[in-house]
Amino acid sequence: MRLQLTSALIALAFSAPALAGPVTDAMIRDDARTGGDVLSWGLGTQGQRYSPLKQVTTANVQRLVPAWAFSFGGEKQRGQESQPVIHDGRMFVTASYSRLFALDAKTGAKLWKYEHRLPDGVMPCCDVINRGAALYDKLVIFSTLDAQLVALDQATGDVVWKEKIDDYAAGYSNTAAPIIANGLVLTGVSGGEFGVVGRVEARDAKTGALVWSRPTVEGHMGHTYDADGTAKDNGITGTTNASWPGDLWKTGGAATWLGGTYDASTGLAYFGTGNPAPWNSHLRKGDNLYSCSTVAIDVKTGKIVWHYQNTPNDGWDFDGVNEFVTFDMDGKRVGGKADRNGFFYVNDAKTGALLNAFPFVRKITWASSIDLKTGKPNFVAANRPGDPTAGDGKKGQSVVAAPSFLGGKNQMPMAYSPDTKLFYVPANEWAMEIWNEPIAYKKGAAYLGAGFTIKTVADDHIGALRAVDPKSGKIVWEVKNGAPLWGGVLTTAGNLVFWGTPEGFLKAADAKTGQVVWQFQTGSGVVAPPVTWQQDGEQYISVVSGWGGAVPLWGGEVAKKVNYLEQGGMVWVFKLPKAS
Ligand code: CA
Ligand code: CA
Repeated sequence: MRLQLTSALIALAFSAPALAGPVTDAMIRDDARTGGDVLSWGLGTQGQRYSPLKQVTTANVQRLVPAWAFSFGGEKQRGQESQPVIHDGRMFVTASYSRLFALDAKTGAKLWKYEHRLPDGVMPCCDVINRGAALYDKLVIFSTLDAQLVALDQATGDVVWKEKIDDYAAGYSNTAAPIIANGLVLTGVSGGEFGVVGRVEARDAKTGALVWSRPTVEGHMGHTYDADGTAKDNGITGTTNASWPGDLWKTGGAATWLGGTYDASTGLAYFGTGNPAPWNSHLRKGDNLYSCSTVAIDVKTGKIVWHYQNTPNDGWDFDGVNEFVTFDMDGKRVGGKADRNGFFYVNDAKTGALLNAFPFVRKITWASSIDLKTGKPNFVAANRPGDPTAGDGKKGQSVVAAPSFLGGKNQMPMAYSPDTKLFYVPANEWAMEIWNEPIAYKKGAAYLGAGFTIKTVADDHIGALRAVDPKSGKIVWEVKNGAPLWGGVLTTAGNLVFWGTPEGFLKAADAKTGQVVWQFQTGSGVVAPPVTWQQDGEQYISVVSGWGGAVPLWGGEVAKKVNYLEQGGMVWVFKLPKAS
């Protein structure tokens, strides 16, 4: 009996992947350069989504075939926006409804799964999605739809710590992938459509204990925390009532719902902030800081070092949450951001100074340009939805605005290649009819004060993957797509760009020319970013497939156009066949 058990254990040890060693800060710092693992959302905390791997190239990608696939199973499907992370032969991938799976990265065999027990009454605005997990030490950490943060043992799936971020009944939720900076796990909050107050929180990644928190609405107090959890004031964000009238800052939105990036060379974490609440901009005259902005936070102090506001006094739900991806331009560390409002911005990563801003979509109605001297948009006043109190008090002047509130770009992360010096931006061309209505804040209720319908602007496409030169502002190439693009992008040293489409394809193009050189039908819409890693001498490419997200829920006429697409929930993994 004893002998049998021992041999069974030995067999298990040989079939399982190598035991996972602890993930260190040094490994996370080097993540972008190490092809053997994917430790962070963004393939490195800078978020470039560039892999140095080049076994798969434009010359051989045509031979790429599936290595394995894995179904999330169950009756729960819906949108799958998750980026897998891979460490020591294990893949950790989150799924809809706050699930997390650990898989053998080489075979797809399931090692364990964690299904978070969700209460009734969670209020995610934009589907029951999750965007991925963070790895630190022996933990895999992810956020849940009921606004909790859960850390699991990588080897067993056992819960090591679990912390409540906020009250789901007040509209808080969490869908972003956490990031790790100097042993801290950094998270934001979702819920901008419910008048929550956006913030960034840092916790000890090993214990979950709060270290600091920084609200992203001007007027709120930041905090640091002692070892026993006692909160200490850490300075008000900005100046109360400087950019907000009355009490509106108390329910001001600016949700940090897409998480952030971190650059070890600046020591700053960069978080984008969502719309000010409510949507009706006439109720809150002023810039409404720090909504629709990039905020750069010193991770050591929890203080905002700089901010840049992409859309002051937003009236179109142009959440400025998009990832701020740092890179080198003209010998300087800068950051690129393709904003939901249709403009691509380049800011100095240390100071926030605006260096360049140009459109990455063809139709923008709310502003004519961005003034590079003042950093402010040149608004087109006639294209702001009107004030209800100027008319019958019930409905303001309606306007047709572009981009739509689903954005020139939304949650799907772009990629940057230091080889081509181009950004690869999943862009969408669409418009909306939008008008304002009266609204008052009520806890847990939608806080918009606006009505809208999304419309197409072109017959042949909504989506377009665009190669964008951050220096010249030129679109170097594009690949149009019928449905709106909603997945992210990966680029590699093999001169390749990979991205998925709602029509179900994972595609690869030549990074220099945009020529599509490979595609594979995954069986459901792809709304997640691909990754790549190398294991036992072979390069693997993976993407999660499963249609859903905000478009079917909020897309108006566009949602009707794509309502033939089927849901799913699969991880796909590809590699080149062995030469023999
Ligand atoms: Ca790596
Ligand atoms: Ca929003």
